[in-house]
Amino acid sequence: MHMRAHGNSSIRAMAAKNPKGALEKFEYVPEPLGPYDVEVSIEACGVCHSDVHLIDNDWGISTYPLVPGHEIVGYVHEKGGMVRDLKIGQRVGIGWQRASCLHCEHCNQGDENLCASSQATCVGHFGGFASEIRLDSRFAFPIPEKLASENAAPLLCGGITVFAPLLRDVKPSMKVGVIGVGGLGHLAIQFAKAFGCEVTAFSHSPDKEKEARQFGASRFISSNDTSAMKSVAGSLDYILATASADLDWMAYLNILKPRGKLCFVGAVPAPIQIPALALIGGRKSVSGSNIGSRTEIMQMLEFAARHGIVAKTETLPMADANKAIEKVRKNEARYRMVLKNPEAHSH
Ligand code: NAP
Ligand code: ZN
Repeated sequence: MHMRAHGNSSIRAMAAKNPKGALEKFEYVPEPLGPYDVEVSIEACGVCHSDVHLIDNDWGISTYPLVPGHEIVGYVHEKGGMVRDLKIGQRVGIGWQRASCLHCEHCNQGDENLCASSQATCVGHFGGFASEIRLDSRFAFPIPEKLASENAAPLLCGGITVFAPLLRDVKPSMKVGVIGVGGLGHLAIQFAKAFGCEVTAFSHSPDKEKEARQFGASRFISSNDTSAMKSVAGSLDYILATASADLDWMAYLNILKPRGKLCFVGAVPAPIQIPALALIGGRKSVSGSNIGSRTEIMQMLEFAARHGIVAKTETLPMADANKAIEKVRKNEARYRMVLKNPEAHSH
């Protein structure tokens, strides 16, 4: 059993050394543990498509060496003197956000994810493709007992990113579309179904139909099929775009009812092309959403445990991170790759 000495010995990780580079073994000495910090011994870490965007520097914000990974479940291994609510050995999850100022207007309103001083787990910090991680304990969330670590890990980014806009924007009576049946998309279908909505999945991968229906979609539209896309024109109240690539957004605006909303969570690197008239006529809107607040993360975890909503995962050992990344790049993940540290332990 791997037992990292307390103190400042080094953390073992997998890092990209340059844009689009393969991940290589990398060790670093963590910052000293602050009074509100915890060190978490990592059991499982999901591979989000944002990790691929970061490795490739698609958004122009990456710094190298880059340790990806922001869908973490592990065990509290050490804690600072001011950490009251987490116990040594407790299982916690960590998502995209690792800190915020906790005193600005947005933090005070419970929108920590809108804080200008927000820090991301693996942008300018070393992320979860590692043996351990240190961060502000106020961004580590207890995981409900019912959820297995590897299936819960993807909830910490993929799950909250789709849960938060659905919670804000939809009602049970609505007909909701989900574009892309990937890591985010397969969770979005499950949440929207559990909210009571009628769910239509849009996918360019016909082999995903059976599973999309099992996740809760009552309709599956192949986005390659122009006539199928036209047949559902004007039928949906809300569409959540989770795809990682640029698509024909006009086709989706046509599928919205008047007053409908197309909400982007997929961080498509290319600019979104939308003619103004496509919004004006039916008074339609386009919006975006980033992860979720701390309260929403806790609500999401509780809701997921209550409704049995988890990621369908395929696991690999942490050392095989490159294989997992390759599967995500090729759209072969069904539906989330999760890396595991076999030696992770609760104490
Ligand atoms: P993923 O597992 O790779 O799934 C993305 C899905 O997009 C694919 O499964 C595929 O679905 C669809 N897609 C990909 N390439 C396509 C293409 N060329 N044409 C049509 N459809 C395509 O990725 P993910 O982890 O769910 O992440 C999705 C996006 O959300 C990424 O851009 C990621 O960075 C972003 N993200 C944003 C936030 C946020 O806070 N807003 C948080 C997390 C992730 P089908 O095979 O079904 O077509
Ligand atoms: Zn993510």
